[in-house]
Order: sequence, then structure tokens, then C-alpha cells
Amino acid sequence: MIKKASLVLLSLLAGVSLNAQAADWGYGKSNEHWAESYPICGLGKNQSPINITSALQTNLAPLQIEYDGKITDITNNGHTVEALVSGDNKLIVDGDTYTLRQIHFHTPSENLINGKQYPLEAHFVNVDDKGNIAVIAVMFENGLRENNALSSLLKNIPTKGNTIDFTDDLSPNNLLPREREYYQFNGSLTTPPCTEGVRWFVLETPQFSSKDQTEKLHKIMSNNNRPVQPINARIIVK
Ligand SMILES: [Zn+2]
Repeated sequence: MIKKASLVLLSLLAGVSLNAQAADWGYGKSNEHWAESYPICGLGKNQSPINITSALQTNLAPLQIEYDGKITDITNNGHTVEALVSGDNKLIVDGDTYTLRQIHFHTPSENLINGKQYPLEAHFVNVDDKGNIAVIAVMFENGLRENNALSSLLKNIPTKGNTIDFTDDLSPNNLLPREREYYQFNGSLTTPPCTEGVRWFVLETPQFSSKDQTEKLHKIMSNNNRPVQPINARIIVK
């Protein structure tokens, strides 16, 4: 587990996506074969994504998000469109400090909230110095107006396998909603190798984007959502 986590961290540090570990997996029908090459995808009991239901009301501390850096590159790895960041971008949870590595997208959403699937979900992937991963997930609902941060981000999307410089002055914060209440549970990477031990923070309040924006991303990524996985013994808190 630790080995896998450090491999993930290494690939992240090398600017390679979590999703770019192998070219031998895909979505749709081929999703059923992930476990043949990546056993945890089939055997794991804490897999992501999930349908978030029956969340236990507790007194969760507010998320301490200190994203002071900016987005520097956009990459298209064939599985997702990903924004790379520089500067000081911290997430502090229970005294542990994580650093934001990248933000990427799924159309439609991977996690569901009380059975509802959103047209778009963004994942903010944060890693601590031991290689532990914490993901903040933000849902996007179709609204009447364009989302300014997304407009800026999606102005130029690189073709598959390419990375482009991003020169607008855009903070990762601009992609987050103002309301930061969240659901918390343990899960996994939603892509092979499906490594578990990932801390998930799914924001309750969706952002809005226009249908055109969601469709633009979907046209490039197609359906890149893993189906929901059994919750098993997990407890979801909010
Ligand atoms: Zn993701």
C-alpha cells in the first residue's frame, strides 16, 4: 500500500496524472476488466465512487483550504482534462497538511448525492508528504450562465496526450463554491490501480456551469465516470 502510494506520488511529482499509469484501461464495457490487471479494483471493500446516502450528521470541522497558488498548465491524458498548479496550495485536515497536485474532471459525475448524478464533477487531488491522498470533489449543475473560472480554463483544451501552458491568472479557489459543507468518507482512486486509503471530501453545494461548458468537456473526455461501488461497512459523515 505504501509502495503504491509513493509510486502515485512520484508520478504526480513528475507531472504525470494519476490517470496516466497505464494505457490499458478504459471506461464503458472495458471498465469490467480493470480487476484483471488491477486486483484491488475488484477485491477492495472501500472503493470509489459511491452513492452518498444516509450520511450521519456530526460536527465536522470546517475544511481548511489554503489555495494561494495558481493554475499553470492544462493537460489532456486521454482519460481526463487536468489542471496543474504551482505555488502554495494547502489543505489542512485534522492537523495533516496536504498539497494540491492537480484538478481534473469527470463527465458525468462519479459520486452521486442521494442518488442524483450531476453532469460534471471536479476532483482536487491533494497529497501529503507520506503519499496519503485527500480528494475534494465538487459537483457542477447545469445553470443558465457560464462559469467564469471554467470558461477561462476551457478556452484552449489540448488534444489527447498534450499539455499546454495556462497563462490566465486563475486560482484553484475560483473553481470552489463559497459554501464548503461536505460529506466525508474513506474511499479509493476512481481509476486503476484503485488504491484505497483515499480520504474523500465531497462538497454538498454544487457549482453551476452552462450546458455548453459541460458538453464541451464531455465531447473531449466522453463518459469518464467509473460506476458507483458498494459502500460495504463504511460510514459517511457530514
Ligand atoms: Zn477523478
